[in-house]
Parts: sequence; structure tokens; C-alpha cells
Amino acid sequence: MPTVTIDDKPIEARQGETILQVARKGGIWIPTLCHHEAVEPYGACRLCMVEIDRGRWWKVVTACNFPIRGDLTVRVNSERALRARRGVMELLLARCPESPKLKELAARMGVLGTPYPHVTEAQRNCILCGLCVQVCADVIGASAIAPAGRGVERTIAAPFRLASEDCIGCGACAAVCPVGTIVVREHEEEVEISPFKSRIKRKRCADCGKPVASELVKQALCRRGGPPVTEILAGHDLCPHCKRQKLVKELTSTGGTNV
Ligand code: SF4
Repeated sequence: MPTVTIDDKPIEARQGETILQVARKGGIWIPTLCHHEAVEPYGACRLCMVEIDRGRWWKVVTACNFPIRGDLTVRVNSERALRARRGVMELLLARCPESPKLKELAARMGVLGTPYPHVTEAQRNCILCGLCVQVCADVIGASAIAPAGRGVERTIAAPFRLASEDCIGCGACAAVCPVGTIVVREHEEEVEISPFKSRIKRKRCADCGKPVASELVKQALCRRGGPPVTEILAGHDLCPHCKRQKLVKELTSTGGTNV
């Protein structure tokens, strides 16, 4: 089993684990933004940069996707690593100057502002980490959004920057957005995914009529098939309250308790 020594602290690691996973196991904090357990790490935001010992020199790598292949010495809080991460944070702050999540993380890193001018309005509030794109494609299977445009006009959007026909309104992109830019707005009859302009019709509870999920989420689950999905669908016509009521009734009629 390889030993990873991070800032003089030896931690046992498994082959293939990343520096970030090992650091977290050892209680060592490395800031991240584009990292999420649900998808493959690819080091887009560069905020997790650390130094690794290469014998006669130290190399800067991203901790989230650097795999452990043997014993390794890592510096997380060296002057160079701290400077590199703070430099990235200053650039990110120029893109998302109003994001409370980003400002909170920046403050924890000791970064209280940015010397860089703010970016154009089109790019504002998105750090282009691509996590939403990855989750939408790899986890949800919808591929409703993608990077669009070039240079300073590059953003994440649905094709032709119109409302996406493939979006199912699941809200996964909003859940993972590290700067809180993507939001789900719940209207009476629709779910809106902003800023992607998607408006998806909501499905209502078969018992009480309250909205439970978007109609397209249900259709997407149906298309996947299989026993677990059938189970999900069995409860998908009811809101959580009515589902519980139904379960209580069933257990009461069969003499069960503990609900
Ligand atoms: S809400 Fe739409 S864009 Fe966001 S992850 Fe779900 S399908 Fe993709």
C-alpha cells in the first residue's frame, strides 16, 4: 500500500486514489470547485493545485485527478502551491464577483478581492468549469447543454442559445453548480432552469394535485426501464406526503408498524 506524505503527514493510500481523496482521508483541506463525486474529475478549475516531489524538482499538479501509483510526497500549503491557488481564485473572482459561494471560499483561502477587471456581461457569473455539462451528459444522459462561443464570449448554453429540447428539468445542473449560477425556478405549471431558458411542464400528484416533478423526468425514467425504475415510477405519481400516507395505510391494513 503506497504512503502519501502530505505536508509531512504520512497517509496510507490505495493504488489509483487521487491526491485529493487521500488528503481528505487525512483531514487535509484542499479547495475545489469543479470536483464532484458523481463524475470523473478533470481538473478544469485548477483550484486544487498542489506540489509533488519529482526528485530534483517540485511539480505543480491538480490534486483532484492525479492518481497515486506509489509513495509520493506532496506539499499542499507550500508558498508556491498557495500562490498558485490564490492566483486562480483571483481570476475566478473576476468572472463571478457576486457569487456568495465563491466569495466564501475565497475568504477561506485568504483572497479578499481580485486585481483583474470583471469579464463581459455574457460571461458573467459562470466560471466555465463544465461540471453542469458533465453531469447532464454522464449522469442524467440528457446532454442538453454544452460550451458555446469562443474566447471572451464562451458560455454554457443549450444549442443555438435557445431553450433546450433535451432538458428534462431535473435540476441536477443547478445542484452541482459550484458558484450557484444555475437556478431552478418553480412556477405553478412549469419548472424553469435558468440561465438555460428551459421551461418544463410539471407533473402533479395523482392524489392531492400538488406538483411533484417535471413530466419529462418521468418520461426519461420510463425510457430507461428495469425493476428499480419501475419502483421509482410506482411512487412517482404521488408527492412525498401522499406517498407516506399510502404506505401508512398499507402497513396498517397488513398489521405493520414502525412508519
Ligand atoms: S435540468 Fe436540464 S440542463 Fe440541467 S442537468 Fe437536468 S437535463 Fe441537464
